[in-house]
Amino acid sequence: MNILFSHSYFLRFDPKQWKLGQPYAPLATLYAAAWLRAQGHSVSLFDPMFVSDPAAVSESIQEHRPEVFVVYDDGFNYLTKMCLTNMRDAALKMIAIAREHGCKVIVSSSDATDHCETYLRSGADFVLIGEAEQTLHELVGELRSPDFDPANIPGVAWLSDEGVKKSEPRQLLRDLDKIPFPAWDLVDVEAYRSTWLKSTGYFSLNMSTTRGCPFKCNWCAKPIYGNRYNSRSPQNVVDELVMLRQRYGFDHIWFCDDIFGLKPGWVQQFAVLVQSSGLKFRFKIQSRADLLLQDDTVQALKTAGCENVWIGAESGSQKILDAMDKGITVGQIREATATLKRHGIAPSLFIQFGYPGENAADIDNTLSMIRELLPQSIGVSVSYPLPGTVFFERVKAQLSAKANWTDSDELALMFTNTYQPSFYRQLHRYVQWYHRKNLTAAYLRNLLARPSSVSIASLRKFFAVFYYYLRTWLSGARLSLLTRKEAI
Ligand code: SF4
Repeated sequence: MNILFSHSYFLRFDPKQWKLGQPYAPLATLYAAAWLRAQGHSVSLFDPMFVSDPAAVSESIQEHRPEVFVVYDDGFNYLTKMCLTNMRDAALKMIAIAREHGCKVIVSSSDATDHCETYLRSGADFVLIGEAEQTLHELVGELRSPDFDPANIPGVAWLSDEGVKKSEPRQLLRDLDKIPFPAWDLVDVEAYRSTWLKSTGYFSLNMSTTRGCPFKCNWCAKPIYGNRYNSRSPQNVVDELVMLRQRYGFDHIWFCDDIFGLKPGWVQQFAVLVQSSGLKFRFKIQSRADLLLQDDTVQALKTAGCENVWIGAESGSQKILDAMDKGITVGQIREATATLKRHGIAPSLFIQFGYPGENAADIDNTLSMIRELLPQSIGVSVSYPLPGTVFFERVKAQLSAKANWTDSDELALMFTNTYQPSFYRQLHRYVQWYHRKNLTAAYLRNLLARPSSVSIASLRKFFAVFYYYLRTWLSGARLSLLTRKEAI
């Protein structure tokens, strides 16, 4: 069959990410396209990453004349897990256009999993639930069959006269090494490269080495893999890295796994293989504080080229970590950060404000943790209830009609909490300035200890620190005002 793939992440509809200019190609979409191509189908891609109007899909449909149009979101990228309404609207427009052109329409995304009916009533013929490559293959293979019944294919939702129907759940793929490498040839890699070079001076590609996460943080939505965790072999990953280096010459890799290298000994084997392959590259990963306490693991990460680890720290208050079922301690966050720094790897922290029960003292604990640990970067968000999570169930009764953010910078608190949503937005701004001020001040303190290393760049930082102090103070004053207003 002739299949046109797409996804619903329009970078232009996410102003913060557009400004950042660090887009990653839709990896899961490329995996699905590669899988279907390996089964003998003809595949093409309409990649809306740099497109400003969903109607542009029409041109692509006219060019490729597909029988099936598949909106297949990149479930490896946390941005798609946010289920932003800008992207949902764009997906629904593309679905309507594909239907007008007579295509069968199939959707696989976190948002479609949570809102099956919305997608099906907007024109999608099928929504794929769970890991979707094999489901898509079976579904496309059956579409022309006179005995076709979606109920016989696990992992499918469709609309019948009685409403939404779902077949039995799809089992996950276990042997990830058998999955063909993503169909990178379908992507305009140069468009990604030039955007990266313009914004950062280097080119980063994304890659996945695992699927899923076995931990149970109660606010984390895992509509595709649930709590299962499967991993590729280190050799398979290195083979793909070699191919990507030969074809695209990347400088940097983002391993987009929820948890990189969880299997015992995986990171060590990976480091040995990277070294013997002669590959030299920098990379960043996501991990947990409790997995970064062993010197040999962290040393192996460094040996392989890791320069930055993002830790889901979330809070400096043990009370809040426990309420989240995070399964880590503030002490472990402290220890993991120190271990990474000792091995020359920069730690960065994901921070979350606004979890139910968080009060002023908990927020202060988080600010103190950031000041003490001085991570290279912080990613600050507010608690965001996603369907299917324990956290969502806890606050469901308080959710208004608005249950999703419009774009990734909206940061609206959508349930009743200690403070109003405006407080958390201001807190987000404050923390960013506070962190920059603390980082720069620490840099200058180090400089004073080694005056021989003073340079023009360091002098610039010297002046910047005054600016950061001023912005932190102004931002903090606004925050106090908001706190007082709410107390009246
Ligand atoms: S460790 Fe990360 S990916 Fe896993 S459940 Fe917790 S937040 Fe989610």
